[in-house]
Amino acid sequence: MLPGAIISYLGLQSINQKSENLRTKYSGTVSLVLDKLENELIQLEENLRNRIFEQLPNYDRNTDLKMWLRNIESEYSAFKHLFLVNADGGLISTSVSIGWNKLPEYNPLIKPQAVTNFRMAENAEFVRKNFIDAISFYQKALIHKTSSQEQALFLSRIGRCYFKMGKYKEGINEYKKILVLENEEITLGSVPAAIVALSQIADGYEVLKDNKELFNITLELYQRLINHPWDLTGGEYLYYLKSASTKILSFELQDSSINSSERNIKELKNKEKNLLEQIRFIGLINQNILSEIEFDLKHGTSSELQTRHISLTENNSTIQLAYFKLPSMFQQSQLVTMGYQIKKDYILSDLFPEILASVELGKDVLVGILDEKDSLLYLHNNQPTLNYLAAENFSHLFTYWKVALFDQDGKSIEQLVRKERQLYLVLLVGIIAVMFIGIYVMIRAVMHESEVSRMKSEFVSNVSHELKTPLALIRMFGETLDTGIVTDEKKRREFYSIIRKESERLTQLINNVLDFSRMDAGSKEYNFEEADLVKVVRSSLEAYKFHIRDNGFEIESELPDELKMLRIDKDAISQALLNLLGNAVKYSEEKKYIRVGVRKDLSSALISVTDKGVGIPKEELKKIFDKFYRVTNTKAKKTRGSGLGLTLAKQIIEAHAGTIEVESEIGKGSKFTIIIPLFGTSTS
Ligand code: ADP
Repeated sequence: MLPGAIISYLGLQSINQKSENLRTKYSGTVSLVLDKLENELIQLEENLRNRIFEQLPNYDRNTDLKMWLRNIESEYSAFKHLFLVNADGGLISTSVSIGWNKLPEYNPLIKPQAVTNFRMAENAEFVRKNFIDAISFYQKALIHKTSSQEQALFLSRIGRCYFKMGKYKEGINEYKKILVLENEEITLGSVPAAIVALSQIADGYEVLKDNKELFNITLELYQRLINHPWDLTGGEYLYYLKSASTKILSFELQDSSINSSERNIKELKNKEKNLLEQIRFIGLINQNILSEIEFDLKHGTSSELQTRHISLTENNSTIQLAYFKLPSMFQQSQLVTMGYQIKKDYILSDLFPEILASVELGKDVLVGILDEKDSLLYLHNNQPTLNYLAAENFSHLFTYWKVALFDQDGKSIEQLVRKERQLYLVLLVGIIAVMFIGIYVMIRAVMHESEVSRMKSEFVSNVSHELKTPLALIRMFGETLDTGIVTDEKKRREFYSIIRKESERLTQLINNVLDFSRMDAGSKEYNFEEADLVKVVRSSLEAYKFHIRDNGFEIESELPDELKMLRIDKDAISQALLNLLGNAVKYSEEKKYIRVGVRKDLSSALISVTDKGVGIPKEELKKIFDKFYRVTNTKAKKTRGSGLGLTLAKQIIEAHAGTIEVESEIGKGSKFTIIIPLFGTSTS
């Protein structure tokens, strides 16, 4: 028991150890994979930074800056929405900016003639409402213009006055002159002059109901807005874009004649979509990150080149942003920070698969990426799985993501070990069961042994008793005869007969004991020969008749004339039969009746011995053929015996390839039947 307990304890210990080992192994692998992925990301960012420092942008013009950003962005698949921050907190991306350029300061009219005429014109326009006067003053001012900026201003005023007079065609002509100026930098208020002019012209055509011109102008306006967006500060740009876009849409719905420009419009619509996306992004940065970036810059917490990562949740999805301080060579251009968004899709569907394909993991393990809710974002080999073996969060980028290792069948370490543990427990139970069975068998063997030794000693006392009695009788009657006291011839004969019977019994007893010891040692030799079974039975009965009759038994026999057997040992068969007869005598009380029968059936010869004696309890029937076994009912107790008679009979019959059967009923008698197969008979 003790070794069993020790083995089981050690076994369970080793399974626990194993699960610990597996855990360490898998978390080691996860760390390795994570390192590899993160290093690759870091490398990508490093490359981007180096590329940025490689070539300084022309920072004077917004369009150049945007182009610079656009060029770099196009070289990297992992990043998008590149943006720059300037010292004033202005933001610029690849297509839009917010707060990037200060509003142009009011441009004073330089020439005094221009100033006077302009004032008089305004007076005529707003106070006197004399638009003809106003137009002529504006025209005079126009003569003294010093810049196209001024020119645009005066032209727009003239146009406006014509519109106020209802002279739309003339007004349109004035506005068209602004378009000819073709200088993007010219503004009216904070809006590019061309945009103002185009939208006025469109209004004019609308009043004139010239739909064709209206559409052409609106399309041009829309085109310009999309190709040359200006700073978002103030919201004018978005206002113009939205109104132009809706107008174009209503044209599309109304008029089928615009089909020719359809493709062009589609393209513009696409561009608008991208632009709106940029605007949304810039707005997001402006609202959420800018203060953090400025705080960082002010307090100098981020060292010059260190990249900082932030994640931002927008419409239930998290976006990953990064920014870093630009080195001093950018500073003169007021560019202080560069930022970008890391493309989740690219990372998950291109970068990671490529890296993971080169990682040797073993065939029963898979790698996956999980999001913050533990749902699968990416799985190498794309098999569905449930539990992971080990997982670890990314440390600086996508910190809400985990790298996880999966078993091919989606099992956790616990489940993997559980199987082994169960197997082990079953084994353990098996060992314990075997141990118990062993103990049981041992106890039985010991008990059997002690039973046998008890029976043996009983046997010795029985046999010695069996020997003593006839010897004493023989001696007593022998001595009596020897003294010559008995003169009565009848008495003498009786004494002789007793001596003969007792010596016969003695002989039988000694034969039994000797035969038994021979059989037990396996050295009993049989003398098989061809013989008549009936003859054997008859002579045995003859020899035993006296004994039977003396004991007051009625004997009946039913024997055929002859039953030739090819191979029997006459003495042995006779001995078996005598043992059965002896038992019938011993175990009968009032009804002293014995019947012996011999017959044959198809395959065997049968010898039966029937009595009307005490009978044998059912549960003892099996055991009475065991050596030394004696039934412990009262009658048997009183009778002398060695417990060997039936054992011998059985062994003898078995040596003849036969069997011995018994039927018995308590108080009614017993019938023993010897069955010997007929293959030994000769045809008679
Ligand atoms: P024993 O020397 O005791 O007669 P046996 O081997 O001949 O030994 O018989 C075993 C036991 O079987 C006997 O003790 C007896 O109880 C029982 N037995 C045998 N033959 C008979 C019978 N004809 N009637 C009743 N009991 C019998």
